[in-house]
Amino acid sequence: LSKGLETLRDKPSETLDGHRMPLWVNTGLMADVARSIDHGAEGVGLYRTEIPFLLRERFPSEEEQRVIYREQLQAFSPLPVTMRTLDIGGDKSLPYFPIDEENPFLGWRGIRVTLDHPEIFLVQVRAMLKASVGMDNLRVMLPMISNVPELEEALELIYRAHDELVDEGIKAKLPPIGVMVEVPSAVYQAREMARRVDFLSVGSNDLTQYLLAVDRNNSRVADLYHSLHPAILRALYEVANAAQAEGKPVGICGELAGDPGAAILLLAMGYDMLSMNASSLLKVKSVIRSHSLADAKKLLEKALEQESSADVKDLVREAMTAAG
Ligand code: PEP
Ligand code: MG
Repeated sequence: LSKGLETLRDKPSETLDGHRMPLWVNTGLMADVARSIDHGAEGVGLYRTEIPFLLRERFPSEEEQRVIYREQLQAFSPLPVTMRTLDIGGDKSLPYFPIDEENPFLGWRGIRVTLDHPEIFLVQVRAMLKASVGMDNLRVMLPMISNVPELEEALELIYRAHDELVDEGIKAKLPPIGVMVEVPSAVYQAREMARRVDFLSVGSNDLTQYLLAVDRNNSRVADLYHSLHPAILRALYEVANAAQAEGKPVGICGELAGDPGAAILLLAMGYDMLSMNASSLLKVKSVIRSHSLADAKKLLEKALEQESSADVKDLVREAMTAAG
C-alpha cells in the first residue's frame, strides 16, 4: 500500500456531505483476494470466471468449479461476490475451445457462446449455486447481453439450474442476478433489462469499444479510445437514469471506475457502486472523500455540455487539481 493512502483503508468511502459510494474490486485469481481485502474493498463487483478456465487444459468439472467459487465466496464472506458467467471469445479464447473468426469482438462472445452451449452454462451456474450453499454472498452477472430474449433465455437456464439442485435435495438459493451493460443496444434497453433483474453493471471497457468503434486492444487506434468521450458520458448517464427509474441498483465494473476524475462524474450520475482493480481503490476513495455530492453534480452538469473528449478531460483535470 502506498504511504499516505493507507490511512484511508478503514475510513468510509463517502463525500464531504456524507453521500456513500461503495468501492468494490474486480478479481480473477486467488492472488487478487488478499490485495482486495488489504485495500478495504466492500465487495467484488466482477469476478472474471474465465480466468480459472484459461489456466487449465480442459473445461473444469462442476466439482472443480464449485471448489474454486467456494474459495472466492469464503474469502470475502459476508461481503458480496459478483460472479460473471463465462465470458470467452473476443480476445479471450480457451486453448481447448478455439474460436476462429474474422471479427471476434462482433462474433461469438460471452453469453452468445454459453447460450449455444447450455451444458457449459448450466454446469457453471450449478457450481456457483452449490458453492454458495450456507453462504449468502453470491451474485450472478451475465456478460454481453444485447437483447431481451437473450436475457430471458439466460434467466430461464439459471432458474432451471436452481430447480435441478433443489430436486437433488441441495439447499441452493437463487442469488441476485444482474446484467452487464456493455453493448450499445443494452444502453437503449436498460429499463427493459433492469425490470427483469436485480442489478445492472456497466462494462465500460467494451461499451467504449463498441460505442466508438475502436478496438480496445489495437494500439494503432488507441488514441481514439476516449473513455470520457461526450457520447460515453451520455450513455453512462442514460443507464444510471434507467436503473433509477426502475428502482434497481447500478454499478460500473470497467476500468473507468478506477479513474478518480471519472469516479466523481459517476457519483454525480447516481451510480451506486464502483468496481475496480484493487490498486486504484484508495486513490478513488481519497478523491471521493475530498468532494461533495453537490460539487460533483456541478462538475457533471458542465461535463455534459462539452463537445469533445479533450474538453471533458481538461474540465475534470482542473476540478481534480482544485480539490488537491
Ligand atoms: C468491460 O467490458 O468493461 C468489463 C468489465 O469486462 P471485460 O473487461 O472482462 O470485458
Ligand atoms: Mg466486457
